[in-house]
Amino acid sequence: MSLNISADFDSGNIEVIDASDSQRIELAIRPDSNSPHYQWFHFKVDGLIPGQHYHFRLGNAAGASYGHAWHGYNAVASTDHQSWFRVPSSFDGQALSFRFEASHRQAWFAYFEPYSRERHTRLIEQALSNAGCQLLATGHSVEGRDIALLRKGDGAPGKRKIWIIAQQHPGEHMAEWFIEGIIERLQEPADAALQTLLAAADLYLVPNMNPDGAFHGHLRTNARGKDLNRAWQDSNAQDTPEVFFIQQQMEQYGVDAFIDAHGDEDIPYVFTAACEGNPGYSPRQAALEAQFRSTLEGITPDFQSLHGYPRSAPGQANMSLACNSVGERYQCLALTLEMPFKDHDNAPNPHTGWSGQRSKALGRDVLGALAQMVQALR
Ligand code: ZN
Repeated sequence: MSLNISADFDSGNIEVIDASDSQRIELAIRPDSNSPHYQWFHFKVDGLIPGQHYHFRLGNAAGASYGHAWHGYNAVASTDHQSWFRVPSSFDGQALSFRFEASHRQAWFAYFEPYSRERHTRLIEQALSNAGCQLLATGHSVEGRDIALLRKGDGAPGKRKIWIIAQQHPGEHMAEWFIEGIIERLQEPADAALQTLLAAADLYLVPNMNPDGAFHGHLRTNARGKDLNRAWQDSNAQDTPEVFFIQQQMEQYGVDAFIDAHGDEDIPYVFTAACEGNPGYSPRQAALEAQFRSTLEGITPDFQSLHGYPRSAPGQANMSLACNSVGERYQCLALTLEMPFKDHDNAPNPHTGWSGQRSKALGRDVLGALAQMVQALR
């Protein structure tokens, strides 16, 4: 019986090189369309024999965008496309390999628990019908997919405007799980911290900045091959309409705090990066960043500030990044929040690694941290 391996679905990505030997199933990750980036994979295997072992090999892993980041990484698998678990994986400097004992005829494998477009649609509906959000505006991606900008709050004068955007990098599916946690918490009216936050602030939420890239199974870029988180100095309606739209909306409504949710391929911790290399970086921004980090550390052991990226030297920030561009333009707290693809080494969970559920819990906790410092934001 032969295996049928497919990736012709939402966020699917794999190329089958040779599936004739179950002990050496040769696969490759397809690059983003119009860009050499690749690392995200997501595929379905049909025709498995329960009880039999299979050996999958992603032969071009070393050439991925973050080839060194496969060390210490374990792939995720699912037998129902709902519940995901880690499969022990190894990287030999060339290929990423994992063995799998089949329990069902079908299995799915991915770089991280995928956040589907179908789930995205349900999330927007839930935000509007149960979480009291309004659809403030809808932008369109290169290929015409909707980009929803939600607002929780009435836009009254004096309210702080907190923007939280996600999945500029389309393979970083943890970012939309993070937003789902936020939207879930918005449905709990008895939550005192939430009420404190919403009395003083409106939330501007973009659950998915890059729907084309996510749909096509990209790691890094939109349908034109553009990295949206390198487009904040020169966005335009043709190549990067996703960023262009959000920048217009920010100009219209203003920004008092900004969080841009991402996933990091390499570092097994949750951390933030800030805009300390900006020309206009101020002591006030530094104080707000420190306050955010210490507050969130006090709320959840899943956040820490020891591990992360090296700090930019003064004046050396890459201004094409959202965090730096927004921080400079609006002189506000501006953070890139990174979650791991691997596990969180301070609180490891060998069964799931870092997961959709843990990303959701972090989203909830970030609202708690913002509630504690909302008066200081402007
Ligand atoms: Zn990213």
